[in-house]
Amino acid sequence: MKTYPFLSLKEITSPMASELKQAVGEVIDSGWFINGAKVTDFEEALATLCETKYAIGLSNGLDALRLILRAYIELGIMRKGDEIIVPSNTYIASVLAITDCELTPIFVEPSENTMNLDISRIEEKISKRTRGIMVVHLYGTPCWSNQLKDIAKKYNLKIIEDNAQAIGARTTTESINGTFTTGGLGDAAGNSFYPTKNLGALGDAGAVTTNDEVLANTIRAIMNYGSDYRYHNIYKGLNCRLDEIQAAILLVKLRHLESENTHRKKIAAIYNENITNPFIKKPASENIQNCVWHQYVVRTEQRTHFKAYLDSNGIGNDILYPTPPHLQPCYKEYSGLELPIAERISNTVISIPISSLTTAEDAMEISRIINRFQ
Ligand SMILES: *Cc1c(COP(=O)(O)O)cnc(C)c1O
Repeated sequence: MKTYPFLSLKEITSPMASELKQAVGEVIDSGWFINGAKVTDFEEALATLCETKYAIGLSNGLDALRLILRAYIELGIMRKGDEIIVPSNTYIASVLAITDCELTPIFVEPSENTMNLDISRIEEKISKRTRGIMVVHLYGTPCWSNQLKDIAKKYNLKIIEDNAQAIGARTTTESINGTFTTGGLGDAAGNSFYPTKNLGALGDAGAVTTNDEVLANTIRAIMNYGSDYRYHNIYKGLNCRLDEIQAAILLVKLRHLESENTHRKKIAAIYNENITNPFIKKPASENIQNCVWHQYVVRTEQRTHFKAYLDSNGIGNDILYPTPPHLQPCYKEYSGLELPIAERISNTVISIPISSLTTAEDAMEISRIINRFQ
């Protein structure tokens, strides 16, 4: 039986293996492993992609998000106990960044249709202590609108993008600065290059992108032991560096990002057109135009049954995410919150294959198999 892998890091990496080995070889031969030219070049390339003035290479996506918040605290823009709006159906890292900085997450439900933060529900959750809105471009769909910009302006809130899943996505609504690419829409963005992301390193890596020079300088100091210049420490900092080898790999991968995202759009278009099973709810039409399809997520009330059906037909699948953050054991204090939309989403979502390994013919056949599910 033909099988359709959900993802194989080995197989998606092998077409680029010689380019990657060459890039790693350059780093080995240079003898320069931290804070060198590869990190600087990658930061420049990433800032260009996201249309921002600054990009800071970092250890991972969670560190990127928590450094943004930590820097706002050091700058006196946020104080411990202040509130940050966050979608109730995000990956837990968005929330961990908030609580790690001793800020309070205020969960706002997503739109049942787009599965992104429902911007029309934000204003009712704003209090005197609200300082920011963390938007998550979930599954690769930008969460952005004029209404969001207006709310942030009216209440003087920072907009922090969790861009872990949407690198290279463009919106149809302008950013505050007149640009259109995620990672440059709000005041600062956390990016992740975890190996399974659309732009994946061969290990952990992340970055902050921003147009705010003061914020960028503060993050640069905090991520380097709190040091503004050598052996002089102005913050009780951390070590969150990106290394030269991962930066060299990301420079290679970045050259392939556009074709990767274009391929994902093509596969998604085949699913959108060909999956017609009434038991399977496809992504909302609002999501289709701008999504870079980190995940292709369908929904069904019969998920257990559908998952078994996919498994028995050799179709790889995954559930992102089976439990919303407020129901995780580590967040017992939030377990009583009423967030029925996040819970309903987590009980019905399932992702089907979408990667450089999924061919157009595979997507057609997967659609046909899904249409026979009953
Ligand atoms: C992957 C991911 C993160 C965390 O990134 P890491 O690099 O794994 O730390 C944060 N938020 C979202 C939405 C993610 O998908």
